[in-house]
Order: sequence, then C-alpha cells, then structure tokens
Amino acid sequence: MSESMSAQKILDNIFSVVQRLYEEMRQNRNSYSEHLRIFEIFAELGRTLVGADRASFWRWDKRKGKLFTATATGTNQIVIDDTTGLVGRALAENRTIVTNDPYNHPDFNSAVDKKTGYVTKSVLVMPVANCHSEVIGAFQVINKLGGGFDEEEDSKRLSIAAFICGMALESDLFLEDSERDKLTELKNRLGLERDWRRYLQKISPKMPLSIIMCDIDFFKKVNDTYGHNAGDAILVHVSKILSAHIRNCDGAYRWGGEEFIMILEGVNLSESAELAERIRLAVEGSVCHFEGQELRVTMSFGCAEISAAADMEDNIKIVDNRLYCAKKTGRNKVVYRDE
Ligand code: GH3
Ligand code: MG
Ligand code: MG
Repeated sequence: MSESMSAQKILDNIFSVVQRLYEEMRQNRNSYSEHLRIFEIFAELGRTLVGADRASFWRWDKRKGKLFTATATGTNQIVIDDTTGLVGRALAENRTIVTNDPYNHPDFNSAVDKKTGYVTKSVLVMPVANCHSEVIGAFQVINKLGGGFDEEEDSKRLSIAAFICGMALESDLFLEDSERDKLTELKNRLGLERDWRRYLQKISPKMPLSIIMCDIDFFKKVNDTYGHNAGDAILVHVSKILSAHIRNCDGAYRWGGEEFIMILEGVNLSESAELAERIRLAVEGSVCHFEGQELRVTMSFGCAEISAAADMEDNIKIVDNRLYCAKKTGRNKVVYRDE
C-alpha cells in the first residue's frame, strides 16, 4: 500500500493534515487538552505514511512512572508502567526499536493483545525528546500492511509525525508547568484562571458551585520564629490537608503566598461552610514535623456560592471579604456570610 504511495500523494496528505489543523487552531475548540487534535491527526498521518494498521502517541509521566497513550487508533487509552514494553525500552534507551517478530522480542508486552484478541506482527517505536534532549514520549506504529517495517525508510517517513507530536507534547508540558506551583504541587493562580471557564460551564440551579478561600494565621511569625524552610514545610503540609478533603471534580489552588482557594462542584453555601469547618479542625489538629520540631498552625476561611452572573474577580472579592472578616474577628474560623 504505502510502498506504492507516490511523492505527490504523500505531499497532498501532509498539506491537508496541516491545513485542517491550521483552521482548527483558529477556532475556539474549548478543549482542555490543548494538543489532543495534533496527536490524533498526526498519529493518523504517521499511520498512513508508513502504511501501518495502528498508530499511537505515548506520553511519559516520569513522576508517576507511567506511560499512557495521548492518542491511539483502534483502542482506548492504555496506561502501563514505564519499565515495561517496547515503548518503555525505547524511552529508557532513547533509541528507535523495530521488530517484525514481537512475540519473540524480550521487551514485547503481550498483555494488551491477550486482553483484546489483537495480533501484533510488527512494531516500530520512535522516542521523542524536548529541547533539552530529555525523552518525553514516543510514537509507535503497529502491523505494517503487506510485510515488516524497514527501520531506515519507515522511521524517515514517520519522523515528521513524531517531530510534530513531540513539539506539541513539549508545549503541553510547559503549559501544565506554568499552571502548577512547584512547592505545593497545587495548581496556581494561572491554573484557576484557566479552569474558571470550565467550572462555570457546569453551573446550573441543580449544580451549585462554591468557593472557599483560606489563609494561614500569623504565618509571618512562623517564618520569623522557625525560618523560611519551616514555613515552606507548613505550606506543603497544609496543601496536603486541603487536597485530602476534596474530590477529583473539585480543585485546590495556591492563590498567593499562604493563601489558597478551593472550588467545589455541586456544593452549596452551607455545605461549603461545613467542609471549611472540617478542614479548619483538621489543620488545627495536625502537626507538621520539620527538622525534629513539631509545628502547628491554624487557618481562617471565607466561603461563598459562585455566581455565574459575576466574573471571577467579583466572585473572589466576596470570599476575600469574608476571609478578611474571619481575620478581623479572631482568626481560626469560618465566615460564610457578609457580617
Ligand atoms: P494573618 O493571620 O493576618 O494572615 O497574618 P500573616 O502573618 O499570616 O500574614 P502576612 O500577610 O503578614 O504574612 C504572610 C507571610 O507569608 C509573609 C511571607 O513572607 C510569607 N510567605 C509567602 N510566600 C511564602 C513561601 O513561599 N514560603 C514561605 N516560607 N513564606 C512565604
Ligand atoms: Mg496569613
Ligand atoms: Mg495572606
């Protein structure tokens, strides 16, 4: 099939893929995973260019030690340990792997075939790297139609798709980094600004959304007394408590220095106040161990139900005022009404 694909046909293929993406890029796709379409379309292009049955683009989450498909033709998302499979090997050694006899390859993981009944006959995996030459993912094609893969010719053809997917993945990773606070690993202010629209789309009379803003009490004193590193340890400690009290659909953000925001789905004002009170008690009753010392802090809270009619800034102003009120009237408390 692809052996006979003319240079003109290949060029036409590439031009139409790029034109499609160019048009889509200018439309508001409202997609959270910003480059999913690039992965999908270039996986399909790579598959066509080498004449394979399937193509997938893999993302390497080094922190979790997992590999997962950003896109995969013919199958649902696959997640595997990064120490397994041909993709794992290609990433670990930063080299292209080709096999036309996978069942006899020591690294081939036949678990997916066993589960789905698919028969893998040939595989080509190409790792992709970021601008520091650190491997971040891999492009894989499976089952060359009408024969096995030719490493030189097929990796040459695939390199355009692998290159573009690699750039898109790197850009996704930068985007994620820019939304995350390095110290606490919570999302930061930019993360909340980006998520806000997504939250608002869910709001309805049956689906209230609430916001809690909280701030560590007398935190300056912690820094002054125990040092800045102890203060950092407290920030991490408190962040873990906040995260442990919310669900996957909710969000916890580091809004500023020692100030946090939580957004809660399907939670009304009184429920948000109850949650804030539970968190307040959890923080008050917890101990942060730092260099042999036992550090304790308390927090103050403001709660409000989000109004879809007001913008983010005005919604935040409301909880900020309530938090301020909690500070003014004694700290270590929850305020959920204008007092
Ligand atoms: P209040 O109860 O009124 O909130 O008093 P406070 O001392 O907590 O508030 P203030 O705003 O006076 O001080 C906040 C302190 O937080 C000052 C700043 O140095 C510290 N801070 C902000 N970011 C960080 C950080 O990343 N690490 C550490 N260790 N301290 C931080
Ligand atoms: Mg404070
Ligand atoms: Mg503060």
